[in-house]
Amino acid sequence: MVKRSPHFSKLQANYLFPEIQKRKQAFLQKHPEAALINLGIGDTTQPIPPFITKRLVEAAKGLGTFQGYSGYGTEQGNVELRKKISEKLYAKRISAEEVFISDGAKCDIGRLQLLFGQDTTISVQDPTYPVYVDTSVLCGKSPDTIYMPCTPENDFFPNLNNLPSTNLIYFCSPNNPTGSVATKKQLQDLVDFARANHSLIIFDSAYSCFIQDPSLPRSIYEIDGAKEVAIEVGSFSKMAGFTGIRLGWCIVPIELRFSNGTSLHQDWFRIVSTFFNGASNLAQQGGIAALEDRGIEEIQQTIGYYLQNAKMIKQTFEQIGLPAYGGDHSPYVWVDFSPKKSWEAFDELLEMSNIVSIPGCGFGPSGEGFLRFSAFAHKSEVERFKWALRNSPQSTQELTEKN
Ligand code: PLP
Repeated sequence: MVKRSPHFSKLQANYLFPEIQKRKQAFLQKHPEAALINLGIGDTTQPIPPFITKRLVEAAKGLGTFQGYSGYGTEQGNVELRKKISEKLYAKRISAEEVFISDGAKCDIGRLQLLFGQDTTISVQDPTYPVYVDTSVLCGKSPDTIYMPCTPENDFFPNLNNLPSTNLIYFCSPNNPTGSVATKKQLQDLVDFARANHSLIIFDSAYSCFIQDPSLPRSIYEIDGAKEVAIEVGSFSKMAGFTGIRLGWCIVPIELRFSNGTSLHQDWFRIVSTFFNGASNLAQQGGIAALEDRGIEEIQQTIGYYLQNAKMIKQTFEQIGLPAYGGDHSPYVWVDFSPKKSWEAFDELLEMSNIVSIPGCGFGPSGEGFLRFSAFAHKSEVERFKWALRNSPQSTQELTEKN
């Protein structure tokens, strides 16, 4: 028989979601009448807006005609979409040639590993999206990841003074799960740190469309010097409700160089052509519509809807006296239940108020004691959450008593 990849045994078991499912099922068996309030959800719930949907339908119909049919496209993606991303999302700070269209940010995060040598070292925010570490480990990179604690004490930004240098630094802003957004000054410090240490930043801007304050950077390329040290991955998933359609992009600046002086852009093109045959032509038509003026307007409405939910979730926790973070420029609210452990707080909320959340410890050691609440819910669900928490005095008392 064929040998299993040795890297699998170094991968941490993905117990978080199965365990949540198990506890939910056990609760429902005991209380079959309970109507759970699901704020654990990381998927979008609102429909794709009409202007964008119409374009998707037109594109699908076109494929059924001789004039409108198209097959394989170029591996880097539709030229019009690459131009639109360069203009509308990056104010031409990066050129269309530097944009590679993909089937989503997660897929790019995985494929990017193919660029780097086996002994590549990495650091990640702690807590953050677990895919950075898991894809690195699966691809055989050093499992000795440096976790950069990002907590309320350091304003959710790593202390760069004490940080050992690594070849790669993953950085996600707005971050999943903390909902924190790095300021321009913080990102400038990060870019300066990367330049001084010859590190490459992999910047994940999957939630950048939630940033409402124009003084907060939506892209690493708003920072001086970033093009020499950073790749950025982006996504239509949370921006346009394309989690199921699948469309994202990866920016690899032309000037980026490996330690031997060769071009990352050239190697990425090779990887994209070898491992991927281009994003769906239908999805790309939807992406073009999403970046036209009507599409952008519609997207803003949906984002506004989710942000209203986030505000309500955050305020509800603040009102019962629990420290809540994020949620202003992000769909995630990060609530501090310490000294309770994350799973303890999860169970209490489920038992007493029927609320489902995500334990923060699943996103890294510094997430212990926190829960993540998602605003990707229907407003009615968030209203029920507010009611449940406010009208459950026992729950409120238990949740807050040790704070
Ligand atoms: N990056 C972060 C930080 C995420 O939270 C997610 C999805 O939840 C992704 C990337 C995945 O995006 P996509 O759907 O484009 O693969």
